[in-house]
Amino acid sequence: MTVKARETCELAIVGGGPAGLAAATLAAELGVEAVLFDEQPTPGGQVYRNVEATCRRQDDLPAFLGADYRGGLALVERFRASAAAYEPMSAIWQVTAGGKLGVSQRGEAYLTQARRVILATGAMERPFPIPGWTLPGVMGAGAVQTLMKASGLVPDRPTVIAGSGPLIYLVAYQLMQAGAPLQAIVDTSAQPLIRSAFAALPHLSGAAGELFKGLTWIAALKAKRIPMLAGRNLVAEGTSRVEAVSFEADGRRQRLATSLLLLHEGVIPNIQITTSLRCRHEWDPAQMAWRPATDEWGATSLDPIAIAGDGAAIRGAKAAVPLGRLAALDAACRLGHIAEGERDERAAPERAALARQHNFRSFLDRLYRPIESVRPLDDATIACRCEEVTAGDLRELIDDGFTDLNQLKSFSRCGMGQCQGRMCSNTVGRVLAERLGTGMAEVGHYRLRLPVKPLPIEQLALLKNADRNSKPILPVVAGDPSQRI
Ligand SMILES: Cc1cc2nc3c(=O)[nH]c(=O)nc-3n(C[C@H](O)[C@H](O)[C@H](O)COP(=O)(O)OP(=O)(O)OC[C@H]3O[C@@H](n4cnc5c(N)ncnc54)[C@H](O)[C@@H]3O)c2cc1C
Repeated sequence: MTVKARETCELAIVGGGPAGLAAATLAAELGVEAVLFDEQPTPGGQVYRNVEATCRRQDDLPAFLGADYRGGLALVERFRASAAAYEPMSAIWQVTAGGKLGVSQRGEAYLTQARRVILATGAMERPFPIPGWTLPGVMGAGAVQTLMKASGLVPDRPTVIAGSGPLIYLVAYQLMQAGAPLQAIVDTSAQPLIRSAFAALPHLSGAAGELFKGLTWIAALKAKRIPMLAGRNLVAEGTSRVEAVSFEADGRRQRLATSLLLLHEGVIPNIQITTSLRCRHEWDPAQMAWRPATDEWGATSLDPIAIAGDGAAIRGAKAAVPLGRLAALDAACRLGHIAEGERDERAAPERAALARQHNFRSFLDRLYRPIESVRPLDDATIACRCEEVTAGDLRELIDDGFTDLNQLKSFSRCGMGQCQGRMCSNTVGRVLAERLGTGMAEVGHYRLRLPVKPLPIEQLALLKNADRNSKPILPVVAGDPSQRI
């Protein structure tokens, strides 16, 4: 292997979605030595994943994925043309409070020291624990979209999409266009979109187009006679794989036989790095998720670390671009490339662009409050997939006196598997909060340990530029002995 360790950089940006691409492009324009690290092989993030290759395809996939997706190409092209350095296939497995990054790239690991860091690590699908959610054939709707964007893969078996959020209608529309055998959508939202949309219209200045786009997807699905049912209390049924989804509708239990069940109830910020750093976090009751506390430039409670895009709070791809640019302006100012006056002047149009998105996002948050994925879990439902711990196992431990979330983690092993708590943190917190009769803000979140991404021990042992005299190899968060591994 010949990976060249990058020893230092002025500004490290983690994540190649719209926030990271916009931040890197602007920072480089302002004379900052910016390096963008992304675990993906090509730029685009979740929303514009693989957009360069897809737009070159001669088949209909670019058309099926839609104009918004293809629009991401311009952002990627501006980034490619900029002076920002690009490190694809580079998973960041640690960031220290002093700005030192652990990079795992093409089978090798190294450390790099940045003067400032912008985390643009985006969002992940909200874990959706229902009975049977671990059966083969049950997947995230976003995961299927990822396969479609990355490899042009489309389901070839009867498919039901269940849950709520704008993404279920977008994915359903994209799959239908691509010829997937879509059987039905089971919408778990509290209120039907159409009635809410018309009520909200006067308050959505500047974003009515977005709303109508959603309504067009629904109209197209209706025209193809895809059943759209309202349902609650979902259960994935089957023995060795999913065979049906059942739900309550109109006061009775209904059942749809299916081979593929796609679940989705919105996305939540990806907070692995900020929780491992012990940045200050807040429980967001509107989005029902933890998020890092940031100022108006995206700066976190730790000096060299800022965050931009959906990793700070879910605001969508259109807001991620101005958020990335604001973080870049602040970084350029702190690093001495521009004065505060210039930073503030250049920030004005970005703030105006954000304001245009604000009302629409609040509308989406109200309309698509997760209901199914936050209702009390049955005892037999698996809360932690990696360690196969059920809600009932957790309740027994809580009743035995393990009433602190991180204590519960240590004793149940929830959050100590391959995903390092990404998938179960909120679920375990919910079970604890319910049992104690308190709220999520009170029970807190996991104290995440490094590495935040799976890292083969061989890479760690052969760490390219480690200071062999300093122990431990993984730097610890200053002053916090419990952070040692
Ligand atoms: C599965 C999924 C599908 C979605 N599809 C759509 C859609 O079709 N349309 C839409 O409008 N919105 C979609 N969204 C929402 C959309 O992702 C966001 O609104 C938008 O992409 C946010 O941009 P971002 O730059 O903040 O993050 P993202 O676009 O998510 O980019 C984050 C990038 O950081 C990388 N990353 C994360 N952690 C690390 C790490 N430790 N080391 C290195 N790299 C890392 C990720 O791989 C990714 O490339 C989707 C979200 C998800 C989770």
